[in-house]
Amino acid sequence: MIRGTLVVDEAICKGCELCIAACPQESLGLSDRMNNLGYRVVHLVQDNCTGCINCALVCPEGAITVYRTKKTAKNKVGVES
Ligand code: SF4
Ligand code: SF4
Repeated sequence: MIRGTLVVDEAICKGCELCIAACPQESLGLSDRMNNLGYRVVHLVQDNCTGCINCALVCPEGAITVYRTKKTAKNKVGVES
């Protein structure tokens, strides 16, 4: 199973919402935080990103970096007792 997450460079996000419209998972939304340019910045609103990178491709500012991880039994974190 592929899981994704992302980092938004909040300093350069212009709050244009193109990434929000491009996300098939509805994972993104505008936060209440404003950056130094006066724009509300984008953040993940639910933990269901698949790492499809649509958001990063449409961002005119190049503000989004997507990371993909493969969840397997091998890389599950165990708890030692
Ligand atoms: S990588 Fe795909 S699923 Fe994840 S937030 Fe971006 S558009 Fe949505
Ligand atoms: S597309 Fe880029 S600039 Fe526009 S809201 Fe999303 S992260 Fe910000």
